[in-house]
Amino acid sequence: MFSVTKALSQLFFKRWGRKPQKSYRYSVEILADIDIDWLLQCGCKGIILDLDNTIVSEDDKYLSPGAEEWISKAKFAGLIFFILSNGKRQHRVIYWSNRLDITALSPAKKPFPKPFKHAISYMRSHPSQVFVIGDSFHTDVMGAKISGCHCIQVATLPHPPRWWEKVAGRYLQKPYPQQREIWTFNQENHI
Ligand SMILES: [Mg+2]
Repeated sequence: MFSVTKALSQLFFKRWGRKPQKSYRYSVEILADIDIDWLLQCGCKGIILDLDNTIVSEDDKYLSPGAEEWISKAKFAGLIFFILSNGKRQHRVIYWSNRLDITALSPAKKPFPKPFKHAISYMRSHPSQVFVIGDSFHTDVMGAKISGCHCIQVATLPHPPRWWEKVAGRYLQKPYPQQREIWTFNQENHI
C-alpha cells in the first residue's frame, strides 16, 4: 500500500544520500498515555519532545493533562529528554526549557535532519533508541522517519488554526478528543 511517510522520507533520503532505517510510528491521545515501562522495554534511551500543541497550546491556553508529572517519572526512569521546537518565540521555549529542566533548541527547523542529529548526539544514543513525540506529521513524524528514530504522534492541543492548518490540518494533525480532559494553563505562572 502507498505510504506518504515512506515516499516523502525516501525523497529526503535521496536528497541527503542516507540509507532508510527501520523505525516505528505509534499514536496516542496525550503524552501521559504513553507507558514508560513499554518505552524502556522497546530499548528507548532518549525522547525528543515537541513543545507547541504537544505540551502547551501555542496560544498558552491549554496544557496536556499530566504531562509534567509524566516527564518527571520518565526522567526518574532514566530517559534523557531534548526539546526541539519550531516555535520562533524563543522566550516561550526558554520558559518551558527551564520549567521542565530540559535542554531545548529553537527554532529547530523540523523535519530537517540537522536538529535531530544534534539532539541524538546530545543523548549519546543511536537513532533507534530515540523516540520523537509530537503532534504534527510534517515536522515530528517526518523528522523522526528521516532521522531513523521512532515516533509517537499525540493529538494536537486545541489552538487557533493557521492558514495551512485550515487547508491541510486534518491530514497532518489529530484533533484533540472532545470527551478527553484538558488542563487550562495558569497564566499567572507564565512570564
Ligand atoms: Mg507541535
